[in-house]
Amino acid sequence: MFIDDTIAAISTPLGEGGIGIVRLSGKDAIRITDVLFRSPKHISLSHLQSARILYGHIVDPSGDKKVDEVLVSVMRSPHSYTREDVVEINCHGGMNPLRKTIELVLQQGARLADPGEFTKRAFMNGRIDLSQAEAVLDLIRSKTDESSRIAVEQLQGSLSEKITALRDRLTEVCAHVEAEIDFPEDEIEPASKLSISESMKGIGRELQTLLKTYDEARFFREGLSTAIVGKPNVGKSSLLNALLKKDRAIVTEIPGTTRDVIEEYLNIKGLPLRIMDTAGIRSVEDIAEKEGVKRSLQSIENADLVLAVFDASEPLADEDFDVMQKVKGRNTVFVLNKSDLPSAVDENSFPSSVLHPSFLLMRISATRGDGLEELKEAIFNTCLRDWKEEREGVVVTNLRHKTAIEHSLQSLNRAVKALTENQPVEIVALELRDALDRIGEVVGAVTTEDILNKIFSDFCIGK
Ligand code: GDP
Repeated sequence: MFIDDTIAAISTPLGEGGIGIVRLSGKDAIRITDVLFRSPKHISLSHLQSARILYGHIVDPSGDKKVDEVLVSVMRSPHSYTREDVVEINCHGGMNPLRKTIELVLQQGARLADPGEFTKRAFMNGRIDLSQAEAVLDLIRSKTDESSRIAVEQLQGSLSEKITALRDRLTEVCAHVEAEIDFPEDEIEPASKLSISESMKGIGRELQTLLKTYDEARFFREGLSTAIVGKPNVGKSSLLNALLKKDRAIVTEIPGTTRDVIEEYLNIKGLPLRIMDTAGIRSVEDIAEKEGVKRSLQSIENADLVLAVFDASEPLADEDFDVMQKVKGRNTVFVLNKSDLPSAVDENSFPSSVLHPSFLLMRISATRGDGLEELKEAIFNTCLRDWKEEREGVVVTNLRHKTAIEHSLQSLNRAVKALTENQPVEIVALELRDALDRIGEVVGAVTTEDILNKIFSDFCIGK
């Protein structure tokens, strides 16, 4: 695609800061900035070497009035983020100088960039592929060091390399099969058939391995949605506060006052927990509270992990058994809270129906902080059973990638089946082509404007 115009945007967050950056990309980026820039030694930006910085002022050319004192860096095509000429104007970080500077840049013929358009150009110009472009956003949004590490690996091309290698192998098999089409009168030789089938199965196994990583790896990109549930007053809000170590949720002594679902992130050994404190589950007449309870049940439905909290200082009540009922079949850690008080509950208080082999009961005191480290450890281990092995290899964290790989695998499996059942070789070739196209979607080898728009519209302006 030929991109003709020059885009510009404020690339730093709005508001006051130490510096703020106006960024331009395109063939006129240097010329436009040159019109507005004055260096004390009268150096023109057009003479500046790539990746150099120059001190000076941005001036309003209409009256030669100084707008801001700046540092301007020039990165010449193709050695830039977008592979086009890129200029970054480092202004003082107040809204007014930034706004004035971008206005002047636009007056000189630049166009205000769409969200993610700099990164989109990096993709369009072949500097990065689509999975790397998405990793840029993942990196910006990452909540923990481990999330960042995974995003950086993807940005550096770990997933792209793996996908490209698999595509190459698929292309080879495809060529092999298509060669057979040229000799329709001959049956595929058994030896050749066996080798094609083995190759396809081998690729299938690798796709399967990649897919398997998604179940756990996605938590690092999306966060692990965690619902804290339990009847009123068992200490759900206190637990959330203790885990977050700050007063985010409102803790009160009146039953049923946590009416809404609150979302917070918690970092457990690099695992970002998207944690939701929910209204106490119990039958209520109050409308607002009912709404809260409804949401609470919904949040159990959507949760990757449920922390079911019980007050260990009192015998379990009907409402507690309701909670156990509601969390059935979910990935649950049972939390016995208020361990600082004399205990009225232990493992034997739970009905046999919840005591399956993976039943996990942790004793804590939310207010004293006892047992919290053990609880965190238990959460990490139950949610990331295979993580130790996976963190060494390439992982899939993005639903779009997972879906593309799944579709590719399905086509590949159909190709294997067609070959085994001696269906016409054209069918095998067709399915293989489809498998190839599908996996190409991950890196953007095959893509549509709709997909691109959807991906880049999630970015902020200026990225
Ligand atoms: P929620 O309704 O389940 O969110 O419960 P809260 O977090 O609001 O706590 C209800 C009451 O139990 C408050 O008075 C808390 O101070 C108290 N509480 C919470 N956790 C503990 C604990 O570990 N030990 C003791 N003794 N009291 C607790």
